[in-house]
Amino acid sequence: MAYRRYHLALRQPLRTAHGRWTHREGVWLRLERADGAAGYGEAAPIPWFGTETADDIEAACAALGRETTDEQLDVVPARLGCLRQALTNARGRGPAVTVKSAWPAAGLLPAGRPALQEMEAKAEAGFRVFKWKVGAGPAADELALLDDVCAGLPDGGRLRLDANGAWDRRTAERWLERCAERPVEFVEQPAFAQPAAGAALLRQVEDLLMGLARDYPTPLALDEAAAGEGSVRRWLERGWPGIYVIKPALLGEPAAVLSALAAAGARVVFSSALETAIGARASLTWAFSWPGQRLALGFGVGPLFERAELNGPAAAPFVYWDAVEAINPEAVWNAGS
Ligand code: MG
Repeated sequence: MAYRRYHLALRQPLRTAHGRWTHREGVWLRLERADGAAGYGEAAPIPWFGTETADDIEAACAALGRETTDEQLDVVPARLGCLRQALTNARGRGPAVTVKSAWPAAGLLPAGRPALQEMEAKAEAGFRVFKWKVGAGPAADELALLDDVCAGLPDGGRLRLDANGAWDRRTAERWLERCAERPVEFVEQPAFAQPAAGAALLRQVEDLLMGLARDYPTPLALDEAAAGEGSVRRWLERGWPGIYVIKPALLGEPAAVLSALAAAGARVVFSSALETAIGARASLTWAFSWPGQRLALGFGVGPLFERAELNGPAAAPFVYWDAVEAINPEAVWNAGS
């Protein structure tokens, strides 16, 4: 197996409750299979989601070495979920895609007032679902903008809010009261505790999320809190009534988790992890294999990188399977040399 670490500037830094994100870091894999064909994978970790880091992935790849066996690849530990997912794809163990029709995508809006102008442009382009980053500035300022953002929605348009775990209970309650009679499809990750924060705090935040989901009519969605295989399973056991935002890039063994979600009748929003085209192809392939309801994809981002061959399908109101299939992983790999 060969690997290449990448460190790429984002064309537009992303401002979230976790701070400014200016560069994407990860590792590309290339695996020559027994039949001589090459398979590619991308490990694109998001450390504040509790995944492994790019350093961890690089070290694990170095330890695996150039000549790898199936037995070695089978036992990559679960804590390296992004690497395991990349290996699944490099080994050609992705899903079969049966429904190849176009799938609507949500357009990403920046935090704060710039959202208004961006929504106008994206609505003009045909987007109907929008995701607005909140929790990045003072709650009072953002709340004061909510009505303007809602007023900017096109006919039949819906708004998703993503707080990236920034709110405390009181702030979340204020927002959810305001959202109740507005065209808000869901509120994503109102609060969050890193797994490293300890079991007691984790439990407290989980209880808060369950309580908010019960007490307010606007659905809630889990993103950071459903970032790995183990987290998704824990929420399924708790009977999470809301939506799961699934970034297949972070999932370890997507097939097992996705079939557990499908069996539970879960509502799932597939989402980009701001990966390059190798990862985007893999993530969207998992999405297009989903048997459940097709909620708008969280892939209305980008182009993320300057070089065209590094980008997944263009941010457009619909993602077409043809565009996913047309991605050439080898071109991405070669761009990194
Ligand atoms: Mg999110």
